Amino acid sequence: MIAPLNAEREPAMNVQLSGCLRPFAPDAARALVRVVVVGHVDHGKSTLIGRLLHEAGGLPEGKLATLAAVSARRGMPFEWSFLLDALQTERDQGITIDTSQIRLRTPARDVVLIDAPGHAEFLRNMITGAAQADAALLLVDAAEGAREQTRRHGYLLHLLGVRQVAVVVNKMDRLGFDPDRFRAIEAEMTAALAGLGLTPAAVIPVSARTGDGVARHASATAWYRGPTVLAMLDAFSPAKAPADLALRLPVQAIYKFDHRRIIAGRLESGRIGVGDEILVMPAAKPARVRSIESWPAPAPSPAPRAATAGQSVGITLDREIFVERGHVICAAARPAAPAKRLRARVFWLDRQPLAVGGEIVARIGTASSPAVVRTIEDAVDPGLLASDGADVIEQNHVGEIGIELRQPLATDAHAADPNSGRIVLEFGGRIAGGGLVLATETADAHAPSGRRARDQAFVGTRTARMDLDADALGAMASALAPVLAALSPAQRIASLRRELAGKIVFTTSFGLEDQVILHLISQQDDNIDIVTLDTGRLFPETYALWAQAERHYGRTIRAVYPRHDDLEALVARQGIDGFHRSREARIACCNVRKVEPLERALAGARGWIAGLRAEQSAHRRDMALVAAEPDRALIKLNPLFDWTREQLLAFVSANDVPVNPLHARGFASIGCAPCTRAIAPGEPERAGRWWWEEEQKKECGLHARSS
Ligand code: SF4
Repeated sequence: MIAPLNAEREPAMNVQLSGCLRPFAPDAARALVRVVVVGHVDHGKSTLIGRLLHEAGGLPEGKLATLAAVSARRGMPFEWSFLLDALQTERDQGITIDTSQIRLRTPARDVVLIDAPGHAEFLRNMITGAAQADAALLLVDAAEGAREQTRRHGYLLHLLGVRQVAVVVNKMDRLGFDPDRFRAIEAEMTAALAGLGLTPAAVIPVSARTGDGVARHASATAWYRGPTVLAMLDAFSPAKAPADLALRLPVQAIYKFDHRRIIAGRLESGRIGVGDEILVMPAAKPARVRSIESWPAPAPSPAPRAATAGQSVGITLDREIFVERGHVICAAARPAAPAKRLRARVFWLDRQPLAVGGEIVARIGTASSPAVVRTIEDAVDPGLLASDGADVIEQNHVGEIGIELRQPLATDAHAADPNSGRIVLEFGGRIAGGGLVLATETADAHAPSGRRARDQAFVGTRTARMDLDADALGAMASALAPVLAALSPAQRIASLRRELAGKIVFTTSFGLEDQVILHLISQQDDNIDIVTLDTGRLFPETYALWAQAERHYGRTIRAVYPRHDDLEALVARQGIDGFHRSREARIACCNVRKVEPLERALAGARGWIAGLRAEQSAHRRDMALVAAEPDRALIKLNPLFDWTREQLLAFVSANDVPVNPLHARGFASIGCAPCTRAIAPGEPERAGRWWWEEEQKKECGLHARSS
């Protein structure tokens, strides 16, 4: 029997399940997450996958016993990797499955484990859209540590834009679960991944052979507080369903039907309803949806009022505007970019290498335009995962290209919308490559000259690299400020996401502002890393709200903790509550528990979203809606900067946003329990924080660097 989980996303990888694995029927109500398993060939990948299958109950009764009996007959001890070998053999005999995708269930997720034995093939599948991974397990041998190939696998994940990575440090049993060895590898891998803009969601000590750390913690790792591998699979965020993305309806045809002009196409993402405001991109022509048509006429039932991703529809608009095949109907609040230039990571298939100056045709959705290759960077041989060092892309190699389009095309960065962010390249009349859109630049970005030209060029330009100097960051912030000021908070967040490629971090301390921002991010799923700094001194109510918010929004809120050694030294130096003694002692505590963890949370980020509002304090009035932070090489956005407390309260009650019960007890601002109190009527909002200090000295250092 055939059990494709999502035939549209995996055209090349339908999976047949028969005797060997327990049949897997995906549950529509449960989230599906695709996890690629990468690692050096000898680091125990097969053992880990075999063990995970067993622990998740994915094997039919008796399978393990049969394999154990076969091993015993041959006089060999049983190895978990035999399981995958057995699956492979059955596949080779045409009996069972494609072992490159293995399905299992955790308590909360349906999981597809993607084994990537040949990463060149996997890279091609990912870039051309044949496969998708939402997350990755990166395997490291505890005895050997990160080897060159491990670093290359990290690079592979970076190339593919897989942002959720957990490092699994395997074979810990051979080192007696030595915590020092584990911490050395943890530090090495965290630093290596940070260099690629990745922060591991967890680094997990395991022995896949004994099962320790896979589904249960070993008594020998009592020093480890993080998740098991199975719990990590549960915690990975699944990709957003197409229906939950912004509306994208590429126009396939226009039909004239009696007096109606019907625009037909397939809804690739989002939803559309009668009365919705839309923009026809790339020309940005506004209109409203007058009707959604259906054939034959639906009488006696009424005509449909709405449609969702995956449906083919015909719509009419409330006014006569020019629309043709290739245009894209978009949500007015979140339109695609009208790209005149774009940067893409492409896989090149043609025998003739792609070179700068090459003339190609770029296709996105139903639209196409002649284009010229202006730049080529980072050409890579995917077999070696090593740079070609060349300014051409050879056949079957990967590289980043900048192209100039003769006509603008409506598109999104792939990180924002996997569908409309995918490009096909034609060369000499043949399909010659395909890839992911990384960044776009709009048609009017180069109209003016001088400083203004540079400022404006940033608006609508996604910056995949943030090797921008302080000037350039400042220019970008100045250009964004007036644009974002005119938008709603939700639109501000969406715009920042559109403008910046790469990681954006939202830091929450579960205050009122943070909960509103969490709500907005979760509503539009802008692919933003949500992080909290767990100082270890938070209110019990805050920990409870953290768990409630994760359940309510179905999002993981990643914790970053103080460094253990720093914390020990701090408490040894000034005692657990030493922050009351002097301002210096308080700042030392904030530095260890908050500021240093914040820097780790923001490592590799291009953008930072925070909940500052101008009216909170005199100090905050001097800050900005959007600001450059050159030291951190990022842009910071405070989307609620101009909101009042009344607006916050009205939003919370209108949208059923879960809030901290401390607010009802007079706490205006939520921080560490020993340093936060309720405020009296008439006191300023921040009066309850470090109330024993002078008003103007009350910031903890987290927000000190905005410029
Ligand atoms: Fe330490 Fe108080 Fe700062 Fe929290 S708010 S880190 S407890 S000084």
